[in-house]
Amino acid sequence: MSEPSKRPIAVAVLGPGTVGSQVVRLLAEHSEDLAARVGAPLELVGVYVRDVSAPRQGIDSSLLTSDGHGLVARADVVIELMGGISPARELILAALAGGASVVTANKALLAAHGPELFEAADAAGADLYFEAAVAGAIPIVRPVRESLAGDQVERILGIVNGTTNYVLDEMTQRGLDYDVAVKQAQDLGYAEADPTADVEGFDAAAKAAILASLAFHQRVALADVHREGISAITAADVAAARDSGQVIKLLAIAERADGAVAVRVHPALVPASHPLAGVHGAYNAIFVEAAAAGQLMFYGQGAGGVPTASAVLGDVVSVARHRASGGRGPRESKYADNAVLPIDDVFTRYSVRLDVPDRPGVLSRVAEVFAAHGVSIETVRQIADRGTAGLVISTHRAAERDLAATVADLRVADAVDSVVSVLRIEGD
Ligand code: NAP
Repeated sequence: MSEPSKRPIAVAVLGPGTVGSQVVRLLAEHSEDLAARVGAPLELVGVYVRDVSAPRQGIDSSLLTSDGHGLVARADVVIELMGGISPARELILAALAGGASVVTANKALLAAHGPELFEAADAAGADLYFEAAVAGAIPIVRPVRESLAGDQVERILGIVNGTTNYVLDEMTQRGLDYDVAVKQAQDLGYAEADPTADVEGFDAAAKAAILASLAFHQRVALADVHREGISAITAADVAAARDSGQVIKLLAIAERADGAVAVRVHPALVPASHPLAGVHGAYNAIFVEAAAAGQLMFYGQGAGGVPTASAVLGDVVSVARHRASGGRGPRESKYADNAVLPIDDVFTRYSVRLDVPDRPGVLSRVAEVFAAHGVSIETVRQIADRGTAGLVISTHRAAERDLAATVADLRVADAVDSVVSVLRIEGD
């Protein structure tokens, strides 16, 4: 192996946790290969922690420091793996201001403060890379930001949260109730003790904002993302989906719509034949439709210390190469200014499940309610096994506001005992 001759590139790791500890390990284990790929050795100059006295397996204690600002000041490349907003934001800004390149996996920070960070990177002429912030090990940021930069991304449908995919998959495969599946996910380490960020779609919404910004070349804020979680999904919803040849997935969706864009995260019915329906367990997958490239699918592990460290190190090699040979990676591309549609203006298909009295004339009365709001029915499936009759009505594409008005009327219609569930249908 030829020896890189350039001066070492000083690397700092902030937060040696699940991901950071693996990054530190892999930096040491693969130091020769990484040096050869970069064209200069990568030298770990420090690891920022809150408590330097706490034991850190596999990390030389002389590298530990609780002086974050002092550490970033002497680094060429800063790898932020603390998570959270503060002090991650301040330390990244300090690193960029000092001319260092930054690699982060912090989706929450990017979704909340991305513009500030990108402007700081531009002002300093430094790189800000974040492959691991969306879907862990799966290369998706670079493909959307670089490989598809010559194309027009029309739509992204993603399973970008492994916890919720695990929960929904267990409900689908084993018929588990939601609470049982969440408890199982917690026992296996797939879900946090407080699973809110995952199950209510906050984590997926942050990733959707990042992906939409890249795909549409404009700033999409977290507040622009319509968000619904999976906590209201029942075993009965999952069973009804299966009977209709569908599965329920939590999807992050970013799409162009008549000169505007729409970004949303919610559970959706996906045909069992769609590639996303076959994504099991805690795996992630992102389905991209581009005008020229057509349909692309990216699949793999969306979390975990070692897989995520792979994405982080890929970014580290990229930014270190720029430092070794000059140049920098792509800047934020934000020239477009398409309106971001509110959810009321989004068009999609819906499945509405109703309990209705088992008597003549009910179906026509229900159909009238849909027609009154201009929502066209595609199929009706009848289920008559519980004393009352059940109807599963699938619509053609309709505006959310019209569907919502339809559902409001159905709730008070004589011909309807109850509206059991309303789910969007995607991917067909
Ligand atoms: P983690 O296991 O909780 O580790 C966080 C590390 O940061 C810990 O070492 C922690 O120190 C340190 N830290 C936190 N706050 C700090 C502070 N104020 N000052 C100094 N040190 C601080 O987190 P993680 O799972 O590795 O995640 C790190 C980042 O990667 C997050 O942005 C996350 O969203 C992202 N990410 C994670 C995964 C994954 O699978 N885990 C996947 C994709 C992206 P202590 O040890 O002292 O608590």
